[in-house]
Amino acid sequence: MRVAFSACLLGEAVRYDGSAKPRAEVLELASKCEPCPVCPERAAGLFVPRPPAEQRAGRVLLADGTDVTETFRRGAAHECAAVKAADAPLAVLKAKSPSCGVGLVYDGTYTSTLTAGMGVCARLLKEEGICVVTEDTVASCKPSVEHPVAIVLGTGLGHLKSLVKPVRRIDYHDIEGFPAAAAPIQGHSFEAIVGTVDEVPVVVYPGRIHLYQGYTAAEVTVLVRHAHRLGCRDIIFACATGCVPGNANKGLGILTDQINLTGRNPLAEWSEIRDVDTPFVDMNDVYSPYLRTLARGVADDLGISVEEGVYAGMLGPSFETPAETNMLRLLGVSYAGMSTVCEAIMAKALEMNVLGLTLATNEAGAADIDHQSVVAEAEQHAEDFERLVRGVLHLL
Ligand code: SF4
Repeated sequence: MRVAFSACLLGEAVRYDGSAKPRAEVLELASKCEPCPVCPERAAGLFVPRPPAEQRAGRVLLADGTDVTETFRRGAAHECAAVKAADAPLAVLKAKSPSCGVGLVYDGTYTSTLTAGMGVCARLLKEEGICVVTEDTVASCKPSVEHPVAIVLGTGLGHLKSLVKPVRRIDYHDIEGFPAAAAPIQGHSFEAIVGTVDEVPVVVYPGRIHLYQGYTAAEVTVLVRHAHRLGCRDIIFACATGCVPGNANKGLGILTDQINLTGRNPLAEWSEIRDVDTPFVDMNDVYSPYLRTLARGVADDLGISVEEGVYAGMLGPSFETPAETNMLRLLGVSYAGMSTVCEAIMAKALEMNVLGLTLATNEAGAADIDHQSVVAEAEQHAEDFERLVRGVLHLL
């Protein structure tokens, strides 16, 4: 996988004062992929050392007042063309910089004050459809013993638990808030495994409960809150779904967004949930663009066929009617399932980094679906699913 990096994050002494800003997590990621170093300011031919630059009122100004807007644009265009030529789907850029910053940049007062905005090059790359993140995103997704990756497995996907080198096991019934009488459905088990997969710390939950079994939205998100309390910052939701004909095919998929058609929301059960600060949660990028891009890169590198699309959460347990399937197609839905949406809402409320992976085991609205066929289809794709998850864990 090719990834563009700000050259200063890779240790190149290219900053305005002749320094570098290497970051350990970025260097580690670069060592696992094909790095494509960029430095828009170097590409523009700016001399080093020079006064620092900041953005103010849409212009880029050096601290001595020189307007370098056009120079910065020229350098950004050059590096953007290089990233496109390298076919890199991801760019990890230096935070706050007037060229490379993402979301926040220095505000032109030269007092370290930040304002909402994008660096000149970061904006160009984003407009080209490249996933642009800062070094802080890479660091926040980095797993450790204190911050293991949570993996919640769905119907027919529970075999991934066999990859875990276990350190301890947790009976779901010992988890606060988990319904005492709940029993696993076929293809699930109710014992969380804390351990490692390929040396990466993980907590694997090889089963879940569902709204269609009569549980509340607060109850079906207990595992997410448990993972968060264990220190997990990344959470991978894996679920079996039906693909919506015309929008997706059977097989593996990466979730890009979701539509909650269950009529339930765990944050509406506010009095029962102590872990989140506010129920009014921004649901943009609920599925982390960074993690999605890594998953796509892994799939491409390993030759695993994976599609991408929007997930619709249905209450179930009955499958979709043809009219409902047609509605989902018109809504732009690729995958329909009976889990995940409430969990993803809870994870976003807890500011976790969410990756949604699905295995479309059937066509939504088909006449011959039953639980056994879903499990059987899932097992056929077990190996590719495992390779995909392991590949993502390796890059984190
Ligand atoms: S332009 Fe970007 S890569 Fe170059 S020094 Fe500034 S932040 Fe680093």
